[in-house]
Amino acid sequence: MAARYVGRFAPSPTGPLHAGSLVAALASWLDARAHGGRWLVRIEDVDRPRCVAGADQVILRQLAACGLAPDEPPLWQSGRSSRYEAALQRLASEGRAYPCGCSRRDIEQALAARGRPRERHGELVYPGTCRTGLHGRAARAWRLRVAPGSVHWNDRRLGPQQQDVAAEVGDFVLRRADGMWAYQLAVVVDDAEQGITDVVRGADLTDNTARQIVLQQALALATPRYLHTPLVLGPNGEKLSKQNGAQPLDTADPLAALNGAARVLGLAAQCASAADALAAWQRQWRDSYNLPGD
Ligand code: GLU
Repeated sequence: MAARYVGRFAPSPTGPLHAGSLVAALASWLDARAHGGRWLVRIEDVDRPRCVAGADQVILRQLAACGLAPDEPPLWQSGRSSRYEAALQRLASEGRAYPCGCSRRDIEQALAARGRPRERHGELVYPGTCRTGLHGRAARAWRLRVAPGSVHWNDRRLGPQQQDVAAEVGDFVLRRADGMWAYQLAVVVDDAEQGITDVVRGADLTDNTARQIVLQQALALATPRYLHTPLVLGPNGEKLSKQNGAQPLDTADPLAALNGAARVLGLAAQCASAADALAAWQRQWRDSYNLPGD
């Protein structure tokens, strides 16, 4: 029998929700409700330097104003270091994770020496220097040893996806040089511990999914289903973000905000209530995953 649906919205508290983040919140809520499942909220505050004090509470108030109430008290990643530590220890003891002494400059130099300064979204593809040991340097970060080969997965909206993580990303970071837990490790550990069956999140995160599947497999964890929602673009054509002037969500008129998000999700009907939005979502996504007909 299929596991009972558990979904989640996992904002990073780097500022208040804006129109773009509400799309992901609404989609994950609608999908959970459409499946008669549970919907959880997790505050992803592992990247402390990027977190803004009080933003978590603002986000929770904004969600509440929009009627998006989680079925359990929210979880803060900052309280879960021991879980991430246990996962890293397990990977290290199995030889799957290794300490890395490379600075960005070391990585650039190693790549240049190979004649291929490969970069992807501003991130360098790690050349694997410390796979064979630290070469006398001090450990800075921890990385996952990634086996070559493509990861295939299916996105409920975008269809079949594939990525060769070893070639396109390289051995990626699990614990950063500044001691912070990397998003990839924290999200995989928490999705598994919270029993998440369906990840519904913004399409800007699509590219992380193959890394997360590699990590799930390394930790012998189940892989959830994924659905990446359309992005709201700012005036410059880039993803709406605080950096390009996204305004905090106006919770004085939650229905207008929710209808804006529903339009981005392609829900044609103007919704007068959450029940209307739910019916529209069920019509739209019935075929993508076993939804009962209406
Ligand atoms: N915390 C991430 C963000 O706000 C989202 C993580 C996820 O949904 O997997 O971009």
